[in-house]
Amino acid sequence: MVKAVVGANWGDEGKGKITDMLAEKADFVVRFQGGANAGHTIVNKYGKFALHTLPSGIFYDHTTSIIGNGVALDIPVFCKEIQTVVEQGAPMPKILVSNRAQIVMPYHVLFDQYEEERLGKKSFGSTKSGIAPFYSDKYAKIGFQVSELFDDERLLEKVESVVEKKNVLLEHMYHKPLLKVDELMTTLREYRDMIAPYVADVSVVLHQAIKEDKVILLEGQLGTLKDPDHGIYPMVTSSSTLAAYGAIGAGIPPYEIKEVITVCKAYSSAVGAGAFVSEIFGEEADELRRRGGDGGEYGATTGRPRRMGWFDCVASKYGCRMQGTTGVAFTVLDVLGYLDELPVCVGYEIDGEVTTDFPVTTLLEKAKPVYEVLPGWKCDIRGIKKYEELPENCRKYIEFVEEQIGYPITMISNGPGRDDIIYR
Ligand code: GDP
Repeated sequence: MVKAVVGANWGDEGKGKITDMLAEKADFVVRFQGGANAGHTIVNKYGKFALHTLPSGIFYDHTTSIIGNGVALDIPVFCKEIQTVVEQGAPMPKILVSNRAQIVMPYHVLFDQYEEERLGKKSFGSTKSGIAPFYSDKYAKIGFQVSELFDDERLLEKVESVVEKKNVLLEHMYHKPLLKVDELMTTLREYRDMIAPYVADVSVVLHQAIKEDKVILLEGQLGTLKDPDHGIYPMVTSSSTLAAYGAIGAGIPPYEIKEVITVCKAYSSAVGAGAFVSEIFGEEADELRRRGGDGGEYGATTGRPRRMGWFDCVASKYGCRMQGTTGVAFTVLDVLGYLDELPVCVGYEIDGEVTTDFPVTTLLEKAKPVYEVLPGWKCDIRGIKKYEELPENCRKYIEFVEEQIGYPITMISNGPGRDDIIYR
């Protein structure tokens, strides 16, 4: 049984918490795309953890965590994360890394920085973790798979050829120090030794697990609107954020994904540049940002303040549709208890016409939000375990959103902890 947990919006919807919770009944948790550029925050009995590369299931003894072939694997970041988790008192996680996963090279991180510097004001707001240069190289066929670390001779040959190419850019385009083959080889040999204990043919492992009816969770990073095909291109990430890609990035048959749990936050937040129709500003935004998430809406990786907005039904309906949603997990609802009224974006006005279909980027930039305003519930809903016990206005908000997006809200998260969940 394979389930995917993915985001409907711009990321930071609380996927980490939902995955961590569902991992209680999972045998495997698999990361299938993205890299160390985004993060999940998880709160459990061992403390509060910001994970960037490790899947959210690592805190259970009975789950095996998998880094799939679709991931951008930053080996030092990966190893550092394991070390931190263990140092904070959690048991040593069981982890397998795909032998086909590709490696974020030190120069990918540099090129990410240099390119953002070059673009200046026109930059993408990259987290500078090397993700865009990494995926560019992967598809230009000059990336390095984990398996390649184990053949020194071939590795050297390829490193020489790649360095030659990179150095032309470094010298003439960016005017930065050049790469040295021997230094890079030394680093890669260190990487090999660091990663060796974890390497496996994970697609074989997962096929066997499917045969044995094990529960496999695919954990997505970011959300639909950051997908390179279906998102707000070019202000997107460089790997697909859709559940469908889980089949490719984990190496399993597409028809095995039986459930798609799309995580949708009860208000909006986004990082990086790009159109954000229901964005709010000033004191209104500051207050939501301060109260948001668990300790404020600031990036788990970068610490930068997130852009804030009201719930966007147009974006979320689309976000759920492109994921192939079977159920929605509606999160961080507890945060909204302070509001007298809750504006909800129910349409986009573009050139005088209102639509509820999420448009392409060129039109999105012209869209103005159409709001409906719902009454607030003005109380703290944390600790409530039953849907019927939620205040009436809170239920009305949930049911209104459900009607607008057209997908069933099956879980409501009313706090950051594992148990702060209401099933419907
Ligand atoms: P992800 O990347 O989608 O996993 O999202 P984040 O890790 O950025 O999660 C958002 C933040 O919200 C984290 O700090 C979570 O601990 C927190 N969080 C998740 N669900 C809830 C919730 O229902 N209520 C509150 N208050 N915080 C939550």
